[in-house]
Amino acid sequence: NAEAQQAELPPILRQQGRQFLAIASGKGGVGKSTVTANLAVALARKGYRVALIDADIYGFSIPVIFGIEGVKPATIEDLIMPVQAEGVKIMSMQFFVPENTPVVWRGPMLGKTLRSFFGQVHWGDVDIVLLDLPPGTGDVALDVHTLLPQSKQLIVTTPQAAAAEVAVRAGLMGVRTNHQVIGVVENMAYFVCDSCGETSYLFGRGGGERVAAALNTTLLAEIPIANQEKERADIFSADSLHGQVFGKLADRVAEAMGL
Ligand code: ADP
Repeated sequence: NAEAQQAELPPILRQQGRQFLAIASGKGGVGKSTVTANLAVALARKGYRVALIDADIYGFSIPVIFGIEGVKPATIEDLIMPVQAEGVKIMSMQFFVPENTPVVWRGPMLGKTLRSFFGQVHWGDVDIVLLDLPPGTGDVALDVHTLLPQSKQLIVTTPQAAAAEVAVRAGLMGVRTNHQVIGVVENMAYFVCDSCGETSYLFGRGGGERVAAALNTTLLAEIPIANQEKERADIFSADSLHGQVFGKLADRVAEAMGL
C-alpha cells in the first residue's frame, strides 16, 4: 500500500530520496536570497539536479538575482513548468503577480500558494529542493515545517551581534519543530581589498560562530563582501573568489544532506 500512499502525495514529495533544505535568517537584508541563489547554482555546477522555491513572498528577490523577473512560466495541461536559469529549476510568486503590486495576502493564502508550488508544478527529477524562506519566524516558515517535516535548515547571518541574535531565534524555531539545522553561513564576513589584498572585517567578527554554537551546529562558510562597484552580488562566476567559496559550501551542504 506504500505505492498508493505515495500517489496521494503532491508531486514534489513523490520522488524517493529527494532532499529539502530551507534557508532561513532572523532578519532581512543579510543576503539570505543571494546565498540561496548562489548555493543553488554551485550545486547545479557540481551536477546535482536542483530546484529553488522562492518562498520569500514579501521580498521575492530570486527572480531579480537570476534576471528572470516577469517571466511567465509555461503550463502543460494542469501543471506549471518551473523557469530554468543557470541550471536551476525556479518557482516564485513574482511570476504570477502584476509588476509593482505589493503582496497583501494573509497567512492562509501564503500557505495555499506554497502548497500549489508543491502540487501544481512539474518539477521532474530533482535531487535537492532549496526553499528561500521569508526572514524571521512567520507563517511561511511554519507552513514549511508543517508541509515538509523532513526538511532541514540552513541559517544565514551577518557578523553583527544584532543579526546573529535574531538568526539564533529563527534557528531555534527549526530545532523546536525537529528540523535538523545543518549549519550556518556567515555572509558579508570580510572584504578583500582588490589592490592591496588585505582582508578587513567591516562588520566585525564572530556572528556566524556564535549562531552555530548556540544552535549546536557548524559554521559552513564565510562569504566575503562583494565590491558591488565592480561586480553585482547576484550570480557569481565559478572561478571568482565568491564562486569558489560557494563551491566549497556546496560540497559541505551536499555532504550534510547525504546527496
Ligand atoms: P535577504 O534575502 O537576506 O533580504 P538579499 O540576498 O536580498 O538579502 O541581499 C540584500 C542586499 O545585499 C542585496 O542588494 C545584495 O546584492 C547584497 N548582498 C548580499 N550578499 C552580499 C555580499 N556578500 N557582498 C555584497 N553585497 C551583498
